[in-house]
Amino acid sequence: MQLWKDHEQRWGVQLLHRNGVLWMAATEDDQFERSSLPLLREAGISYEELSVGEMARRWPQINFEGVRWGIFEPEGGFLRARFACQMVMNGFLAEGGEFKQTAVLPDGLENGCRDGLTLSNGSKLTADKYVFACGPWLGKLFPETIGNLVRATKQEVFFFGPPAGDDRFSEANLPVWADHRERFIYGMPTSDGRGFKVADDTRGPEFHPTSGDRTVSPDGAKLAREYLGFRFPGMKNAPLIEARVCQYENTPDDHFIIDRHPQTENVWIVGGGSGHGFKHGPALGEMVAELVMEEKDPDPLFRLNRFAKT
Ligand SMILES: Cc1cc2nc3c(=O)[nH]c(=O)nc-3n(C[C@H](O)[C@H](O)[C@H](O)COP(=O)(O)OP(=O)(O)OC[C@H]3O[C@@H](n4cnc5c(N)ncnc54)[C@H](O)[C@@H]3O)c2cc1C
Repeated sequence: MQLWKDHEQRWGVQLLHRNGVLWMAATEDDQFERSSLPLLREAGISYEELSVGEMARRWPQINFEGVRWGIFEPEGGFLRARFACQMVMNGFLAEGGEFKQTAVLPDGLENGCRDGLTLSNGSKLTADKYVFACGPWLGKLFPETIGNLVRATKQEVFFFGPPAGDDRFSEANLPVWADHRERFIYGMPTSDGRGFKVADDTRGPEFHPTSGDRTVSPDGAKLAREYLGFRFPGMKNAPLIEARVCQYENTPDDHFIIDRHPQTENVWIVGGGSGHGFKHGPALGEMVAELVMEEKDPDPLFRLNRFAKT
């Protein structure tokens, strides 16, 4: 959080919209929220524990049926992911970095990069050290070292248009929300002219990040619409104005992979965000830069050999 704030100041832009995050704990099972409280306290993150009555008073546009209580994190919010990536790129170029849009061919990567990398435009790239942060594609580039340790799943995201002139579902009036029931549904209010987001965090079917079909399923669309009408009655007949398919890049324990290639000292593999990697970007960047430049060893939590033990 501190690094996001630092970068906002440094670049004079807003990356994080601080409209708060509301976690709705289900009447049947509130284990996730219950066990989050001591961790929030320990980390010094401000939060309020709210009764259903209090939540209904603050956010009358939400139907709290099936909710027992809630956690509101006033300093939370949502990140402008695409814009943040563009800002990183601009910052990198401004500091003298060079960007090339080309792909590394996977041939021979597992055997070391002694002769440099072969790029899809036919050229070569040689460096003292290499960092591969290729998200869901990591297993394709390193089939032996990573293979199925990074498993891509299909995730569907829906955006609905609120009724004309109705601002109850905008970021000024609604926080980001998460609803733990049989499925973990979450979303965010409208912002920047985008629709009201509804998404299901449940891991979808396995997905090929290059050739997978990027159209949403009828079942996913039905579930999102039913949920929307139930939890946000004012959005019941809202039109679906945008839908996206993207992929999570899951590791077996949902933790990152940050390690040297087991056979090649100067090749680093970084990834495995497992659906929660973006917010960690600045911290991860700082950590990886230090490991690579100062030849340090990564935290055992992130090392590849943890999978050999299980
Ligand atoms: C629907 C959805 C919701 C999410 N919600 C959240 C959230 O709420 N909070 C959160 O923190 N995170 C969230 N995430 C996860 C987050 O987006 C990812 O963990 C994060 O973007 C991973 O970053 P990365 O840089 O490791 O990989 P990516 O962003 O996937 O980047 C990998 C890059 O590698 C490039 N590449 C691949 N192969 C090659 C090659 N051969 N040569 C050169 N380049 C190559 C790709 O083009 C790509 O640019 C969500 C993800 C999804 C899909």
